[in-house]
Amino acid sequence: MKNLKPSFLKLSLLKLSGRQISQISAYCEKIYPEEACGLLIGAAGEGKDHLGGRTVCEVIFTKNISDQPTIRFDIDPAVLLAVMKDGRMKGQKIIGHFHSHPDQNAEASENDRAMISDGNLIWLIVSVMRGRAERMNIYSVHKSLDGFTLKQTLELL
Ligand SMILES: [Zn+2]
Repeated sequence: MKNLKPSFLKLSLLKLSGRQISQISAYCEKIYPEEACGLLIGAAGEGKDHLGGRTVCEVIFTKNISDQPTIRFDIDPAVLLAVMKDGRMKGQKIIGHFHSHPDQNAEASENDRAMISDGNLIWLIVSVMRGRAERMNIYSVHKSLDGFTLKQTLELL
């Protein structure tokens, strides 16, 4: 029997406002050709809705501290801790994160899969082609035997 490997599964709904989508796109374009990253914050009391959806109430833009920032991302653990601490005081929590793929599609990469450490976080991946954010995919993490991947695609016009 194979070990259960975490993989991504389609998320029915991530409630992001048009403004948040624009802000994330603009940030990913600004950080291009490096991978941009940031945190998606939700209300601590809010669970998933009946479709498995969650509402993003705040987006926090973080520095990519990876030593290979054009192909990987790392969020500074000190920033993560600070955001978690601040969130507790405001009744918020980290519900997911985003990062960009410079000149790559918005599919979760092998690197991404290897990085999964929290099964509750939502992953948002932005494809930035020639400096322009073109597409976002949203994933939730799902443990499965075969590691299959499904995705919800949101096109940025
Ligand atoms: Zn990635």
